[in-house]
Amino acid sequence: KLGNATAKAELGRAAWKLMHTTFARFPEKPTDEEKEALRQYVHLFQRLYPCGECAEHFGQVLKKYPPQVSSQKAAAQWGCFVHNVVNKRLQKPEFDCDEIAKHYDCGCAEEDKDKDK
Ligand code: FAD
Repeated sequence: KLGNATAKAELGRAAWKLMHTTFARFPEKPTDEEKEALRQYVHLFQRLYPCGECAEHFGQVLKKYPPQVSSQKAAAQWGCFVHNVVNKRLQKPEFDCDEIAKHYDCGCAEEDKDKDK
């Protein structure tokens, strides 16, 4: 089947953006509930991801590399790492994970920072 590569790429960019921005806003010191919420978020994201072929591959990635939820930094670095696994499979360049912190800005007010969004 041919599919629609442009729509699939658009969806991918939007999905990655939401995911990395979510990780960028995850608490520095999450509670057990917050950790469990992020874990479930990632697994449900995979399970319900609209591109079936993508979801299937990402499921294999999650089995090998389960989400890291111990801190904001761990989550963001994990997100960058798994995106790079997908990049590699699609023969896209590797992203430098040291750059991740400055790259994702939610546009939220600074005073929201430690509140529940
Ligand atoms: P994208 O990969 O969408 O990245 C968007 C932007 O994020 C980049 O321009 C860069 O600024 C930044 N970025 C790049 N790498 C990283 C990183 N490691 N960490 C943080 N930021 C980064 N497409 C398929 O054709 N087949 C698939 O099987 C497939 N599986 C996918 C699985 C998932 C879970 C997702 C979310 C998407 C998948 N896609 C798949 C879509 C694919 O990953 C891309 O989103 C799409 O091809 C558009 O690519 P892009 O080059 O515009 O950059």
